[in-house]
Amino acid sequence: MPEARRLLALDFGGTKLSAAVTAPGARAWLDRQQAWSPQGATAQTDWKLICRLARQMLRGQTPAAIGVSFGGQVEAAGGVVRVQPHVPGWEGFRLAERLEAELGAPAVVENDGNAAALGEWRYGAGQGCQSLLYVTVSTGVGGGWIFNGRLWHGADDLAGEIGHLVLQPDGPLCACGKRGCVEALAAGPYLAARAREALQVDPDSSPTLLSLVQGNLDSLTAEHVALAAQAGDALAWQLLSEAGRALGRGIAMALVLMNPERVVVGGGVAKSGERYWQVMREAAAARALAGARVEILPAALGDDAPLWGAAALAEGLITNHPSPTTY
Ligand SMILES: [Zn+2]
Repeated sequence: MPEARRLLALDFGGTKLSAAVTAPGARAWLDRQQAWSPQGATAQTDWKLICRLARQMLRGQTPAAIGVSFGGQVEAAGGVVRVQPHVPGWEGFRLAERLEAELGAPAVVENDGNAAALGEWRYGAGQGCQSLLYVTVSTGVGGGWIFNGRLWHGADDLAGEIGHLVLQPDGPLCACGKRGCVEALAAGPYLAARAREALQVDPDSSPTLLSLVQGNLDSLTAEHVALAAQAGDALAWQLLSEAGRALGRGIAMALVLMNPERVVVGGGVAKSGERYWQVMREAAAARALAGARVEILPAALGDDAPLWGAAALAEGLITNHPSPTTY
């Protein structure tokens, strides 16, 4: 009967689509596949692509349950997509219903911040915690909350959006339309843009960065800034440390308000080295309340955190435990 107990985990990551199969209680994938969403992708093309991946892995079997991490805003209770900022056509897409009709099993959908929080809590760096804040720092800054062993969605599925806490009301413009959000000060594209601007003003300000991108400023990313900082470049470290400090300040606000047991930080920018972590932790500790713990750990599951969260969501549908999606 093991075939009938398979769980299907799906991750709509924006540019990358992933599907994996596991069994309840397992800590490894039985099979895992991914595909890049093509240039000019729409909801329909992404939908067809992920259905094909899923069917290839299921090999004619019906899964016991389906869990989905979606890189956009969702209405979790109904499994409906609200918006996907990079791919058109997702608005109002009834993803859970469509999956149930297509693959014959119950499905549950969460945004990727919540799914990753659940993944780290169940299988990664957040194991054993009653309360956890998960933060991801990559092209944006997102997050998710676990309280008393369950996801906390908020009244409108908008809890955990730590990236849009405003630190500098007159600061740089954020994708959300406000100014000086944590995201606009700490996320990768903003960090890269700041380095680009500095090099345009003074090309001699960072020879290391210039040589890393071979003079092509358009190709400059946050990863280049981190590499240059680690190589001792003063400008790169100044920009990277400002980004780390902004993230730490945002985390401090969350700590003061909710006093979680642990904070887990993942995403590409979180791989910027020990000094980055030190600055971020110090900025958080400096603003936390005296006596409150400030335990900030790197994510353990890397890019697979949302997919493992999706597996945990699927498992929640078929076990007697309270569903991790309801609160
Ligand atoms: Zn914002």
